[in-house]
Amino acid sequence: METEAIVEAIERVRAEWGQRLLILGHHYQPSEIVAHCDAVGDSLELSRLAAQSTAERIVFCGVRFMAETADILSRGPGRSVWMPAPKAGCPMADMATADALEAAWAHLCAVAPKAKWVPIVYVNSSAEVKAFCGRHGGAACTSGNGRRVVEHFLAQGKRILFAPDQHLCTNIMRVLGRADEVALWRRNAEDGGLTDAQIRAATLVAWDGCCPIHAGYTLQDVATARAAHPQAELLIHPEAPSIVAARAEHVGSTKAIIESVTRAEPGAELIVGTEDHLVERLAAANPHLRIHPLRPILCADMGRTTLEALLRTLTEWPEANQVRVDDVLVDDAKASVERMLAL
Ligand code: SF4
Repeated sequence: METEAIVEAIERVRAEWGQRLLILGHHYQPSEIVAHCDAVGDSLELSRLAAQSTAERIVFCGVRFMAETADILSRGPGRSVWMPAPKAGCPMADMATADALEAAWAHLCAVAPKAKWVPIVYVNSSAEVKAFCGRHGGAACTSGNGRRVVEHFLAQGKRILFAPDQHLCTNIMRVLGRADEVALWRRNAEDGGLTDAQIRAATLVAWDGCCPIHAGYTLQDVATARAAHPQAELLIHPEAPSIVAARAEHVGSTKAIIESVTRAEPGAELIVGTEDHLVERLAAANPHLRIHPLRPILCADMGRTTLEALLRTLTEWPEANQVRVDDVLVDDAKASVERMLAL
């Protein structure tokens, strides 16, 4: 089928379904997919939309943990969540399993039993991991509200197990001036590779996961981009290593990056360190600015959603494309996300 015919067919289905269908797309989706979405946003925005939606079917153009979150928040009679690319996962989410976190949690509580431990999990995690978090009284967070969630628990005198992104929480603690209170839990080492003394001294234990896409940014990338564009300001996503993020004028979520671009004066020059589908769209939508990628990076999983797959989902609704979180996980996983949304 020609692209034009696929595009027309998708729009026909959208018109037929009307309000009963909600197509959500993450900012990192390719532009040809974004064109068919009812809403485009970051994880937090899309979580909120899923929670508020009354649509019968939500089709999530993104990666699996996002669709799972939409299912957790929108669960109800006659409602379902679907993915055009059900195999689109997230390598970072895969770096933390609920079993491994339970083992780490038990160890932390055994070594420092008087500490008030709480888990925080980045929404870029599986439903099992969110359920682990909810079960232990913790909250999820996004790159947009991570600082607020961390500060909320620190203000209560809690000590935090943060998973799976080491860089997001290290960047948050760096901004709070408390980077030296972070201990890194190495998931492949016995007892996380930490001594009891290190655990007792830590305010935040960071799981050693990362986004392989953003974590690949280096100081050399910054030096190269600065040399090419000496007048430009650098905006970078907090999944970048903190040593690199520390060199940026602005560190923020995809939403914060978009807002910074929107506020920029005409003629301003910006280097943007995040996924290239978004950087390209920002450059195209803001021809009065000079926008350059820090270094073009693409998330292969985000790129798995194709027009053909979207049309097939909307017309055939293959069972394999439905995302349904195991019932036994929903309440605990939902608790962790709702605690985040309430902050
Ligand atoms: S960009 Fe990184 S965190 Fe986002 S889905 Fe891809 S691998 Fe996961």
